[in-house]
Amino acid sequence: KTIPQLLADTVRAHGPRDAAVFSSQDKRFSWDELASAVDDFAAGLTKLGLVKGDRVGIWSPNRWEWLVTQYATARVGLILVNINPAYRLAELEYALNKVGCKALVTAAQFKTSDYLGMIRALAPEIDSAEPGKLVAKKLPALKTVIRMGEEVSLGMFNFGDVLAMGAGTDRAALDRISATLTPDDAINIQFTSGTTGAPKGATLTHANIVNNGNFVTAAIRLTSKDRLCIPVPFYHCFGMSMGSMGCVSKGATMVFPGEGFDPGVTLKAISDERCTGLYGVPTMFVAMLDHPDFKSFDLSSLRTGIMAGSPCPIEVMKKVIALMNMSEVTIAYGMTETSPVSFQSGVDDPLEKRVSTVGRIHPHVEVKVVDAEGATVPVGERGELCTRGYSVMKGYWEDQEKTDEAIDADGWMHTGDLATIDEQGFCNIVGRVKDMVIRGGENVYPREVEEFLYRHPKVKEVQVFGVPDAKYGEEIAAWIVLKPGETMSEEDVKAFCAGQISHYKVPRYIRFKDSLPMTVTGKAQKFVMRDAMVEELG
Ligand code: ATP
Ligand code: MG
Repeated sequence: KTIPQLLADTVRAHGPRDAAVFSSQDKRFSWDELASAVDDFAAGLTKLGLVKGDRVGIWSPNRWEWLVTQYATARVGLILVNINPAYRLAELEYALNKVGCKALVTAAQFKTSDYLGMIRALAPEIDSAEPGKLVAKKLPALKTVIRMGEEVSLGMFNFGDVLAMGAGTDRAALDRISATLTPDDAINIQFTSGTTGAPKGATLTHANIVNNGNFVTAAIRLTSKDRLCIPVPFYHCFGMSMGSMGCVSKGATMVFPGEGFDPGVTLKAISDERCTGLYGVPTMFVAMLDHPDFKSFDLSSLRTGIMAGSPCPIEVMKKVIALMNMSEVTIAYGMTETSPVSFQSGVDDPLEKRVSTVGRIHPHVEVKVVDAEGATVPVGERGELCTRGYSVMKGYWEDQEKTDEAIDADGWMHTGDLATIDEQGFCNIVGRVKDMVIRGGENVYPREVEEFLYRHPKVKEVQVFGVPDAKYGEEIAAWIVLKPGETMSEEDVKAFCAGQISHYKVPRYIRFKDSLPMTVTGKAQKFVMRDAMVEELG
């Protein structure tokens, strides 16, 4: 199916029921209301001259306009381009030009970021342009800027204006456009998190996202009776494909607790809205469990959910099950390039496997684990995980070279992740190929050292990575965030490791930090830490 077909089916089945709740904006949609806003906005975009295949950027935290834009662009075959809410001037310019966005739908601001100010700085011509007729030296493709919120800005349309422009348009005209779309058409460019370097734009199709959303939510037995709390950003595949698309495929209600993640706001939304499911990356669950008022929130409605995005510590999973009432929580593993999920634990899997692995391969996806030469390794051995199937992206947008590095001639996506798969098919992600440290000829898997250091009661967060070393090739470094009020010395950490893990795995450089560099999706950016250490060590 295409995205508009899927949405139409869900609206037909569940029309007057809740589709989405945006608690930070006090906004609620029934499926009928969502469908009509989507149609109005789609018709408005069409009136602005946008046609199938044109790229439309969206730059915003989780606001209702995001959801409407997602389905409105899909309705008429426009390719939605998710732009990172954390971007600044140079990154915005690069992203818009890289994919040639003709239109940009933007929030006015997010936290301390003045989005409109940045757009004006890049395209000062906008102040004297007629809305929709921008000609900007630095952004040659961009014609139209549509701003969210009530105010009006020079040279831009207001979101409401575009809705009004499309209101009353004959649905049959939109249906005719939707009918020309096929499941294999590109419909979305999603950027990777930027954990290992600059984010890459993965081009995805209707079939990629529709099917993955369906399988992901089937695995957690989501139905139209569920209310899923989604604190992860729309910008990322977790929020958009697994969250929004997954809920649409089941007719489940989406609850968006805020514009950026806040543990207290999320806990409150779960309890106020009686959510039955919750998504999050591990750091979000940790922040919720650590919230000083955690016990005061009523989480009795929770049942299911997904933890994913980065390694999910066993202890955190156990706490989520015991303290957050999420008896059916599963772990999922995936990447933007595979729409995203390819492994997920099943609700019925043995508890031990459910907390300690990323589960088994998804339906209709093939998998293999290969060594550095590309040969499949024996069962249980470490190697690079490769996947193949419907879920693999079309490619990185207009970047054949990078695409060919990632997807080989036989269609295998090389994930860049190191994994083991046991006889029963349960998979463990043991790190990233890029992060593996080779110290004096010994392979060190940072994840293993991190898991060990997490056992120290004073350690709140830890990241282990390699830094270049003249003698050993690479040395091990650790950045540690201590729990509030705790103190520790480098020697304490080394003493904790002594005799417990092999000497070559013990971090040589240990630094205590107040916080770690993170992506918007809450993943630690080791390349930033590595660069800082290299600079410090000279
Ligand atoms: P970039 O590709 O820009 O460096 P990224 O790989 O973090 O960033 P995403 O596509 O958002 O971008 O994330 C996919 C990656 O996240 C996977 O390749 C894997 O390393 C990690 N990951 C996702 N889920 C899990 C999980 N359950 N356990 C361990 N790692 C996971
Ligand atoms: Mg990646």
